[in-house]
Parts: sequence; C-alpha cells; structure tokens
Amino acid sequence: MAKLGRELAAKGVDVINLSFGEPDFHTPKHIKDAAKQAMDDNFTYYTPVAGYPELRKAIVNKLKTENGLDYDISEIVVSTGAKQAIANAVLCLVNPGDEVIIPTPYWVSYSEVVKLAEGTSVFINTTAEQNFKITAEQLEAAITPKSKLFMFSSPCNPTGSVYSKAELEALVKVFEKYPDLYILSDEIYEHINFVGGHESIAQFNSIKERVIVINGFSKSYAMTGWRIGYTASSKAIAAACDKIQGQVTSGTCSITQRAGVAAYEGGLESVHKMRDAFKKRRDIVYILLKDIEGIKVNLPEGAFYFFPDVTSFFGKSYNGTTINTSDELSIFILEEGHVSTVGGDSFGDKTCIRLSYAASEEKLIEAMSRIKAALAKLQ
Ligand code: PMP
Repeated sequence: MAKLGRELAAKGVDVINLSFGEPDFHTPKHIKDAAKQAMDDNFTYYTPVAGYPELRKAIVNKLKTENGLDYDISEIVVSTGAKQAIANAVLCLVNPGDEVIIPTPYWVSYSEVVKLAEGTSVFINTTAEQNFKITAEQLEAAITPKSKLFMFSSPCNPTGSVYSKAELEALVKVFEKYPDLYILSDEIYEHINFVGGHESIAQFNSIKERVIVINGFSKSYAMTGWRIGYTASSKAIAAACDKIQGQVTSGTCSITQRAGVAAYEGGLESVHKMRDAFKKRRDIVYILLKDIEGIKVNLPEGAFYFFPDVTSFFGKSYNGTTINTSDELSIFILEEGHVSTVGGDSFGDKTCIRLSYAASEEKLIEAMSRIKAALAKLQ
C-alpha cells in the first residue's frame, strides 16, 4: 500500500498516508544530542554483540523501575530493532515442524519469521466482540505436543488491544500446565497505552523463565530509523540470541546505543507528551470513524491504530469495480479517497482494514472525511 500510495503521490495526487507503523514525531532533542556527542567522542567502532554494558545496565534499570522486573545484564541482548530481537528469539527456539501459536490479528512479521525457522504457525482467531483478545480456553485448545512458542503483542499492532493483569493471569494459569511452551511477549507499544500502567506477562514468576520480553525505542521514543530493540529472557536464550546475532549483524550501531542510554536515562516526559497526543487523535478519529455508515469500530486501548470491520462493503460496487476483500477496499479507498490504509489480510484477518493515526489532527480529520465520501460511492 505504501508503494501504491507513493506511485499516486508521484503523479501529483495529494495522498494522506495512514498505512505506516511509525510515530510522526521527531526523536526528542536530548536523545539526538547524545548521538551527536557520541560521534564527537569517536564512539564509532564495532560494538559488543549483545550491546554495550552501559546500555544493557540502563535497560535492566528500566525493566526494574518501570515494569518491576528483575533481570541481570547477561539476560539482555540489544539488537537492530525489536524486529531482529523477535527474529533472534524465534530462530533460536523454533525447530522445523514446531508449532508457534499466534492470536490473530497479529503483526505481519510474526508468521513470516516462523516460516524462516521452518516452524508452523497455529492461529487463534479473535473477533472485535472479544476486543481481539484470546481467552484461556482458546489458548488451551490450540496447544498440542508440538507447540513450542506462543507469540503476542500487548498493546497490539494492529488492533490496539491491551491485556489487563487479570487477563494475563488467566493465560498464565494455562501456561503453568505446559512447562515446555515458551512465551514471546512483544511490548514495543508499552508506553502508548490509554488505560493505565503497562502489564508485562513476565511479572508472573511461575513462567518468567520461559518468557522472552521484546521491547525497543522505535514507538515510545519516536526512534524508528535508529534501529534499536532488545530481548530480556533467561540466560540460555540470551546466549543463543547472542550467538545468532553474532553471525548475522553483530552489535547494533554504537551511536544509536548512546542515544538509547540517553532515552532511558532522560525521563518519560517526552514519551508521555507523545502518548497524550496519540490519545487526543484516537478520540478524534474514533468519533469520525463511528460516523461512517458501514464501518464497525472498537475503541483501541493502546498503540496508534484502528482496526475497523469493513465486511458490510463486501459485494458492493462502484464504476464497475466490486469490492470482495479488505485488501480491495483498501485499494479503493486509496484510489477514490486518496488515503492509504492496509488491508487486514496481512495481519491474518480478512474482515478489517488498519488505519494508523500517527498523523497530524488536521490530516486525520481530512482523511476521515475523504474515506467517508469514497465509501458512500459504493452501492
Ligand atoms: N513489534 C511490533 C508489534 C511492531 O509493530 C513493530 C514495528 N512496526 C516491531 C515489533 C518492530 O519494531 P522495530 O522498529 O524496533 O524493529
């Protein structure tokens, strides 16, 4: 969709891009200053594979103070984005034929990295009615003797759903019965949470040893291009991630690591400002989306996406084109409304589309009005 949007924009069409998964804010100044200083200090050499101790200490400290989690520096592996952290964990845990349980809708790379590891994804379908969150019963029904890993994000991309402590606890009761099953908990959106404090599934000591926490700086600190994320896990998994990463990329950029330290030591003021701006936008878009005939939408509790159900448009036509899938609807909205979104298929859900609200309020209001006008053409 981003490519199609760019093609249209190149033809001079004013396209509003709501397909990207990145904050539109600039990286906070104190973080950029630390990077500039790193360069001036000639902090520009190869880095330790798992990251500089200074950064890993800052991460250990953050996990303790913000999340109440105890980790040792040897249990942290810093990577080139949370994406590489996820790939490391999946590649070191999943053997050919192993099953990986993934609730749908899910972030696109989960199922693809499972393919790279020659594992098999087993999907648990969720619906808007259950706020896109799985139940303990659904989890238990998906577990087989081949299950190796359960993988999820909270707050969730693409639905914005957030698991409460009680909901996590119910899942933990199931995990306790299956001691060979690992849990990958992607917490990259932890600070973009509108319902209160972030709850990590690693807080439950009965399963903590089997949890791989994924986190990073891209979303909370508007640092997508800096490429920095990490795993917090048992020592054994950290050692395996270190081994894989050592042969693929080595340690991530030295300058970025100094920026990461500045981010974690610089307080949460800028993070909370961005979160508050996202919340304001969410509230604006929610009202406008609900007002569009045929769109069924939940109020997301975190991240910066809406994932509305668009099935009421299936079978409808305009100018000889009939819409049968969410991908087709997404293309229709781009061509007729000049707003780019993403069809739900990429997230394992054919009934919805994803709209990012990481854009200015003005652009979001204009985009909703264009979408409304485009969809009204479908008969
Ligand atoms: N997990 C989720 C759920 C994401 O949405 C993203 C980015 N779109 C990532 C991980 C990867 O983040 P990073 O930029 O740190 O690689």
